Amino acid sequence: MARKVVDCRDMPSEKNCTLMISGEDRDEVVRVAVQHAIDDHGHTRSKELEDEIRAHVKDEVAVGA
Ligand SMILES: [Zn+2]
Repeated sequence: MARKVVDCRDMPSEKNCTLMISGEDRDEVVRVAVQHAIDDHGHTRSKELEDEIRAHVKDEVAVGA
């Protein structure tokens, strides 16, 4: 089963952050990504932020498999 990932490089960001958050549970990935956005990118917790991050969740692509 493909894991879900949020790649910070896909997000509008001024920090050139390259973090990738992955897991099998989409809600957990979103939760951690929201916390990361708040802690490291200075975002404010909001429904809009969560929706934007949720929209960026994608299936992990195996690298070098
Ligand atoms: Zn980031």
